[in-house]
Amino acid sequence: MPTRASRKTDVTKLKADVCPRCDALLDAVTSLHKQDVKPKPDDLTICYYCGAPLAFTEDMTLRPATLAEMHDLADTFLRWAIQKQSH
Ligand SMILES: [Zn+2]
Repeated sequence: MPTRASRKTDVTKLKADVCPRCDALLDAVTSLHKQDVKPKPDDLTICYYCGAPLAFTEDMTLRPATLAEMHDLADTFLRWAIQKQSH
């Protein structure tokens, strides 16, 4: 099992696009907790440069995440945190 320090970085190259908030060129993503995970439309991500919450479109370009998407993400995180505390 790889240690945190030796874990292979799983970078997925994307069609180059710019962040809708800061205009930084974004052409790759990295999963923070799973390897071999490829993004799909409506998955959420954050801009590496400014931290803006973003989502993938049908053609895998980037758009600002909606408030509803961020709310759902907060609910998912809270459920995960509660589950972790109960173990
Ligand atoms: Zn940005």
